[in-house]
Amino acid sequence: MSDVHNVIIIGSGPAGYTAGLYSARAMLEPLMFAGYMSGGQLMLTSDIENFPGYPEGIGGPEMMMQLREQAERFGLTVQDKNVEAVDTQSRPFKVTVEGEDFFAHSLIICTGAESIWLDAPGEADQKGRGISTCATCDGAFFREEEVLVIGGGDSACEEATFLTRFASKVTLIHRRDVFRASTIMYERAANHPKIEIKTFRQVKEWLSDEKGLTGAVLEDPRDGSTEEIAATGAFIAIGHKPITSFLGGQIDTDDNGYIIHQSHTMTSVDGVFAAGDVVDTRYKQAITAAGMGCQAAMDAEKWLEENVH
Ligand code: NAP
Repeated sequence: MSDVHNVIIIGSGPAGYTAGLYSARAMLEPLMFAGYMSGGQLMLTSDIENFPGYPEGIGGPEMMMQLREQAERFGLTVQDKNVEAVDTQSRPFKVTVEGEDFFAHSLIICTGAESIWLDAPGEADQKGRGISTCATCDGAFFREEEVLVIGGGDSACEEATFLTRFASKVTLIHRRDVFRASTIMYERAANHPKIEIKTFRQVKEWLSDEKGLTGAVLEDPRDGSTEEIAATGAFIAIGHKPITSFLGGQIDTDDNGYIIHQSHTMTSVDGVFAAGDVVDTRYKQAITAAGMGCQAAMDAEKWLEENVH
């Protein structure tokens, strides 16, 4: 068996890097598998305006680079690889990465969440072409074009506002007239001259021709009436689902796949901790993920002291 690490951190958003920082400073020599796309969802975000300590805001990728550098300075080792499987039945735990096995006395799972797609008819053909879940990544492809944004949360309002930099018109489509978005994000979108908001509308079907997306059929959920809307781009922002399938059901989750904490940040398996959006069904903020990453590292340190060292 190769070396047994004190702690392996899986995932690299604000939760993972903060767990890395704290466990490195606790001299646990943590190893992180950051994923091929390290940095998590904030790598796809433009400006973060609500993380304390940045009065002018900061770009998502820039913040993730800084968090990584800070943790590496204290001894976090990062590999930009995806974890394929974990075995939590054996002790030490086994983590399989690109066919290679790694072993650790404790694990901190910070794999976060990924975008949910609508899966309306016609969507599959247009994924990554006319239909995207990331305005920061794909918005610039739609210069002077008309685009749709689907959803009523902070993500939808943020994406709609961001897209006004490129698109000639943005139509925000929401299935009811109450918005989950925070007031500031909603008002920024609602007051923007390039944004039109259509409520009580759901995408029934996407329309396209050989050149790409041409629009959508929208349905009013109250009476089933339909209308067509023209657009060459669409951005789906209807929420996220936790990334837990690689755990193979070994750790208790709720019906939606979110890991359940049993005691502080410890999961149903003794010695396995979890932090950030993979657990969080309520707050889902960079700052709350970072805070939970700190808690998980402190819990892991205490657990290692009491159970291993
Ligand atoms: P969210 O708050 O869960 O909102 C998802 C939206 O999509 C809801 O309005 C929901 O409608 C709608 N929706 C869900 N399924 C749908 C479907 N099948 N068809 C049509 N509409 C559907 O998700 P989010 O906007 O991604 O935000 C997630 C978390 O991240 C939140 O806590 C948010 O505050 C945070 N966030 C923060 C920032 C920031 O502060 N800068 C930016 C982005 C996100 P209903 O309302 O009818 O359910």
